[in-house]
Amino acid sequence: MTQRIAVLVEHLEGQPTDVTFELLGLARRIANTDGASVQAYLFGERVGHLAESLPADSVTVVEHSALHHLAPEPTARVLAALLPADLPRLLLVPNTSLGMDVAAWVAAALEWPLVAYCQALEHRGSRLVATAQLFGGKILADVTLDERPTVIAALAGAFAADAVNPGAPGKIERRDAPAELAALRTRSVVLERPEAADVDITRAEKIVAVGRGIESKDNLELAEQVAQALGAVLAASRPLVDAGWLPRSRQVGKSGLKVKPKLYFALGISGAPEHLEGMKDAELIIAVNKDPKAPIFGVADYGAVADLFEVSEALLERLEG
Ligand SMILES: Cc1cc2nc3c(=O)[nH]c(=O)nc-3n(C[C@H](O)[C@H](O)[C@H](O)COP(=O)(O)OP(=O)(O)OC[C@H]3O[C@@H](n4cnc5c(N)ncnc54)[C@H](O)[C@@H]3O)c2cc1C
Repeated sequence: MTQRIAVLVEHLEGQPTDVTFELLGLARRIANTDGASVQAYLFGERVGHLAESLPADSVTVVEHSALHHLAPEPTARVLAALLPADLPRLLLVPNTSLGMDVAAWVAAALEWPLVAYCQALEHRGSRLVATAQLFGGKILADVTLDERPTVIAALAGAFAADAVNPGAPGKIERRDAPAELAALRTRSVVLERPEAADVDITRAEKIVAVGRGIESKDNLELAEQVAQALGAVLAASRPLVDAGWLPRSRQVGKSGLKVKPKLYFALGISGAPEHLEGMKDAELIIAVNKDPKAPIFGVADYGAVADLFEVSEALLERLEG
């Protein structure tokens, strides 16, 4: 029997989330090397039509009113009912607020190994090796997978997406909802969206990001001028947001947002691991910092050991003069 790499499809308000396509891309790359196929698990209420847009060889659809909002308990119970018979080589789940709970539940219920916070998964020789973040990314652990089916909770933004269906839609197979859905202990009542953000920094092509080196809220005006002159949006490290100088929607990093702009211009940011996690995949990183040992220079394509105020003034003169 052909091995399968299975992916849990996460969807929100009728659309698969971006991380779903990232996991399907990852599954496809692993499957191509192993001669395996890609199987998507699509659960929800009236979501069957989404199956045709998924780049998978087969899509297993389970529909039930208890799956109206994808909540951890019903999602995990469906997976725990299906997986012992399906026995995929891997189950890829997004390491999101939903997926973290689902992955842990399924792994515990089936006694399968779990690699959480996975940021890389690749073949090394005949083995699959997953790289997991520990202690908020301060330590990276390489985990060599054995032959057992394994649950991987993969970080959003860590893998390239596979958004295009590679040909005819995969085989769509509908399965009955398992009886366990009739006796759930939790109930999803309402989906509350966070307040609309002033700008969406995750979609910005250019970002000027400021850190504690900016010294005071008043100095943000200078950074804003630099951002405007470059056609960029202003973002920040966490301390500035914690201080209330900028809204949470502008925070880059582990507890903020992950960004992948074409340009990330970092002014007075040290480059703590929690910050790097949110921006290290930017196409071009330019950092200005007074401290030549600042870790931000470890990920920067270009760096200036300089005073951010002097650099900003000089840049404005060039761009506006
Ligand atoms: C669980 C957890 C989650 C976290 N999440 C996030 C997160 O999402 N995002 C985030 O950013 N942080 C996060 N942090 C905080 C993180 O650990 C760092 O404390 C934070 O990123 C530091 O911000 P900073 O670089 O602005 O400040 P600092 O580390 O204080 O760095 C300021 C830098 O400015 C430089 N500087 C000072 N003056 C000038 C000048 N005039 N010109 C040029 N350079 C100058 C200094 O050399 C220094 O390198 C998190 C921490 C934890 C524990």
